[in-house]
Amino acid sequence: MTADLARPALPLRPELAGLEPYGAPQLDVPHRLNVNENPYAPSEQVVADIAAAVARASTDLNRYPDRDFGDLRADLAAYLRAESGVALDPAQLWAANGSNEIMLHVLQAFGGPGRTAISFAPTYSMYPEYARDTNTGWVVGRRDEDFSLDPAVARDAIAEHTPSVVLLASPNNPTGTALPFATVEAVLDAAARVPGGCVVVVDEAYGEFRRRGTPSSLELLADHPHLAVSRTMSKAFGLAGARVGYLAAATPFVDALRVVRLPYHLSAVTQAVARAALAHSAELMAQVGSLRDERDALVGWLRERGLRVADSDANFVLFGVFDDRRAIWQGLLDRGVLIREVGPAGWLRVSVGTPAETQAFKDALVEVAAL
Ligand code: PMP
Repeated sequence: MTADLARPALPLRPELAGLEPYGAPQLDVPHRLNVNENPYAPSEQVVADIAAAVARASTDLNRYPDRDFGDLRADLAAYLRAESGVALDPAQLWAANGSNEIMLHVLQAFGGPGRTAISFAPTYSMYPEYARDTNTGWVVGRRDEDFSLDPAVARDAIAEHTPSVVLLASPNNPTGTALPFATVEAVLDAAARVPGGCVVVVDEAYGEFRRRGTPSSLELLADHPHLAVSRTMSKAFGLAGARVGYLAAATPFVDALRVVRLPYHLSAVTQAVARAALAHSAELMAQVGSLRDERDALVGWLRERGLRVADSDANFVLFGVFDDRRAIWQGLLDRGVLIREVGPAGWLRVSVGTPAETQAFKDALVEVAAL
């Protein structure tokens, strides 16, 4: 075949042919409860402090930002200490443009051709994409019927596939399920036996919403140099638009991520916004408390109406089971309530909104599902 020089072919990687970009619909409807955002916009005071911090950073924007962002890492360490009682050195913290980019750094450093990453479904649908984009093999094991992860299943899968990366979302998306320490420890133990090494990332994007008594894997960091715990400011801090995710691990783990990051990946503006919001963490965490209460009430309400509801340690609830979930989703959308059609067949996921949004969701669901 002769080449058409006027219309040269794009050398797209074959595995990307025909693929659509990932993303939930961004629709302009009154009640958006589909991507687990925090329904509360930053308060006037937080907005004012962010604006002032950005103005200060702007006077220096002719310069590249601090590429190691020591101040932000120190603030994140202080925040995690207050939030979960775990003391970390700033050198144990890493940040990037959302925890999505954090995971990409992990796969860039520890995955790659000839290597495998593993997770357990149903889980966050971006995980296979991080693997694909870094040419890392992808293996997916199964969670149980109740969305818990059987430690024996996890151990066997790790022994069989000898991955170099294990991704565990806890609380899990889209199910809301948190993993007990015993399961995470079983995974850490199995990973430690993989010849050549294996890192375990516990993705705690929704960690702040965990119920009382649910532990954070941050507590396991001190004894496990192959563990990392990732968090985000997108959910609890209500800062999804700012794109700030971060990870805590032993310093050598973090130093490996520093090798693969792009130079100056975290803009001076992003750093300023994150630090200004972190200075308000006490008030923002109070808001998380009310979202937790709202979540628990919503779980109770759905169960009272005879629906199956997964236990949730997150700011969303997975419920079902519907013969035609698409019809329920569409019926809610027709009434101005956008939720997410995700998870195993028949289930739907709704994010916890303001009390008014939750009421709108309930009113719509009662009509659509004839509850
Ligand atoms: N992990 C999980 C489990 C998520 O649900 C999400 C967002 N939906 C992310 C990571 C990524 O969040 P972000 O990039 O906004 O930090």
